[in-house]
Amino acid sequence: MTVQTTEKNRDFHKLLKQNGLKVTPHRLRVLNEITHKNAAISQPDLEKIVGKEIDRVTLYRILSSFEEKGIVHKIFDLHGTATYAICTSDCTENHHHDQHVHFICSVCNSVYCLQEISLPKIPLPSHFTLHSIALNAVGLCDHCQKDAD
Ligand SMILES: [Zn+2]
Ligand SMILES: [Zn+2]
Ligand SMILES: [Zn+2]
Repeated sequence: MTVQTTEKNRDFHKLLKQNGLKVTPHRLRVLNEITHKNAAISQPDLEKIVGKEIDRVTLYRILSSFEEKGIVHKIFDLHGTATYAICTSDCTENHHHDQHVHFICSVCNSVYCLQEISLPKIPLPSHFTLHSIALNAVGLCDHCQKDAD
């Protein structure tokens, strides 16, 4: 299974400006960390990495503004910890379109966006309105699979 990598050359300056956010070193730093690995990054891990430069409250505010603007989406890992992944470009303010499957590794707890796997259509009872579907696939990631062989 291939995991879609995020575009390395994504122009973060442009991304922030497009979303009406001021370009600040803190925001750029957080975006860099979120897109650094293939996997999503958890809030505690982000805190560990940027904690010396960015205090908790500021980090929290940055993440919630990114989420609100459609820049990142939140996935809860197996421990219920919030992890963040960059959105595809069609997400907009308060309208996320990250309707793809997320894969969570039961050994290392890494969360991957499987952009190429879209979610099934759910036939809802009448008078029900669908806003979003979350579907997590749980198993071994390629890295932990190798260790298990
Ligand atoms: Zn999104
Ligand atoms: Zn793993
Ligand atoms: Zn995702």
